[in-house]
Formats: sequence, structure tokens, C-alpha cells
Amino acid sequence: MKISVVAVVAAIIIAGLIELFYRQTYSVSLKGEIIGYTTDKVALQKRINDYIKTGDHQKIAFVEVDDLPTYASCLLKNDVETNDDEIFEKVIENAKAYSKYYAITDNNEEKVYTTSFSEAEDAVNKLKEKDSANSDSLGIVEKYGVADKNEEDENEIKIMNDDNQVEISSVDTCVDKVYVEKEKPKVVTTTKKSSSSSSGAYKSVEKTVYNESSVSTNLGISLIRPVSGGTISSRFGYRSRDNHKGLDIAAPQGTAIKAAASGTVIFAGSGAPYSGYGNIVVVQSSDSVSIRYAHCVAIYVRTGEYVEQGQVIAGVGSTGISTGNHLHFEIRYNGNAVDPQNYVYN
Ligand SMILES: [Zn+2]
Repeated sequence: MKISVVAVVAAIIIAGLIELFYRQTYSVSLKGEIIGYTTDKVALQKRINDYIKTGDHQKIAFVEVDDLPTYASCLLKNDVETNDDEIFEKVIENAKAYSKYYAITDNNEEKVYTTSFSEAEDAVNKLKEKDSANSDSLGIVEKYGVADKNEEDENEIKIMNDDNQVEISSVDTCVDKVYVEKEKPKVVTTTKKSSSSSSGAYKSVEKTVYNESSVSTNLGISLIRPVSGGTISSRFGYRSRDNHKGLDIAAPQGTAIKAAASGTVIFAGSGAPYSGYGNIVVVQSSDSVSIRYAHCVAIYVRTGEYVEQGQVIAGVGSTGISTGNHLHFEIRYNGNAVDPQNYVYN
């Protein structure tokens, strides 16, 4: 009995002594190493969590830290101080801040960058209003980059992507940089040719050439569609009444017929040896290839003239043996008719 009383008294004295020299704290470890002590681990962790959300700058989306601290309760000598500030600095020492930004893309290729989605959206809408040729292939992509403080202006940050600074553009600059003008014909004014005798279908007009992307062919030349729009009204090959040697493209009277390939006009007019074709232009586009454009309402070029690919050479009509306004488009390779739909309108 006496012994246990002594033991209890001794325990109380020891506890009192401990309380006199030690206090309850938490040791804080980072990567397994104690970096300090805190009495309020909740407040310290909240401070770290708040920092991770936005760092110390509004334009930061989030902060990445190498590691988060761990806490263990411990008794600390009263004369050892806790060091929350130091712990905090150590935790964020190698922190990486990230900023959100936006890329305007054209066909998935990043073209320009803005800091906000609304700016990117504004720019895309303006491009659509301006009828930019790439209106249908534009997109907006959300991006993250490492945020760097700008030394010159504390309120600004630099956004880095793979060690390169992301160039942020204003809405207007975005519009300027991304805008693509729709293809327009380049109009070349030529001096009026002397009006020598020619077929009645000939009309002297300004030379107009459309820049259109062409397709390469196994005929040794590249081709463009001679009529934009229009509908295929009769295909190449055997049909009930005959073997159709060309492709018929129906279009309103006067629709521009463009040279599908450059070359020299070897016939412009009507009659033999092209009876039935109405007003026809025949262009020798290479040694092997000649192209016939038939049933024209008007012809804008003359025999011997060189025409460029895309140059307007005639207008759609229904002259000759024809039941409606259309272009009869016929390609001859070494004299044999080939199907134009092997190359265009396919
Ligand atoms: Zn035809």
C-alpha cells in the first residue's frame, strides 16, 4: 500500500516537472525530415492549402508543391520556439505556379493566345463576322503554363510553356493574326484587242483569273473545276442515246466557265469540226491534253490566245445540241475522251 502511494505521488511530481519544462506541439516533417514545430497544425495546413489554390497572385490558377508536410504530436521544451513561417516558406520553396490561358486554333493548330476565355470567344466571333475564310475551322483550347513573376510589373505575370514565354495577344491582334481573306479573283485589265473578225459569240471582257486550288492528275497537268457550284446533269460514258464523251454541269446562263488548266486556245467559236457543241472553246493544255468547253452563251477568248488556269474563258449557255444551260466539259488525252470525274466533281 505504502509503495503505491509513493509511486502515485512520484508520478504527479514527474508530470508537474514535465509540464514545467515541456509543452504539447507537433513536429512538422517534409520528405521525412523534421523542418520545425507548430502548436496549431490546422492553421498552418490551411495557410498552405490556401496558397496552393491561387498562390499570391490573382492570375494564378493553382500551385504545385513538391511535397506536403506531415505532422506528429510531440513534447517540445518550453525554450524551443515554434516556427510556422519558416515551415511555410520551406514547403512553398520549390512551388510551381500555373496560369490558365487560351489558344485560338485553326484546324487544331494553335495560332494566338489570350488570358481569358471571353477574349478568345470575342476574337472568334469577330473573325466569323468578318467572314474569315477559316471561320469554320476555328476553335478555343484551354491551356496551363508555368507562371513567372514579371520583374518589371508586380501585377503582371509571364506565362511560360517549355521555357518559352507565351505571347498573349489582345482581341484585335488575335483577329488580325488569324484572319484569312477569302479567295477573290485577281482582275487583270488588259488592253482591248483589236476587233478583228471573229465568231458572233465573242465578247471582249476584262481578263479575270480565279486562284483556286487544283488537283494533280495522271494526265501530266493539274485541274480545277471549270464551274463553281452547278450540278452534274449528265455523267461521262454510255447513256441511253449515245456514249457521252464529257461531263455536263448545269448552271445558270452566263455562269463563269474557268479554264480547268492553262493552255493555248486552239478553237473558239462554233461549227465544224465541232458541230453540235454550239459555241465551244478548245484549249490545248499540253501536248497530250486538250479540253473542250461547250454550249457556251458567250466566249471571252480567241484562237491563239494563251489562257491561265482559272481564267474566265466563256459563259455557260445552251447553244448547239442542248436542252438547258450547262457546260459540256470534255477532256481528251491523246485524242481519247477521259472521265473528268476521275479528277474533279468526284
Ligand atoms: Zn455533254
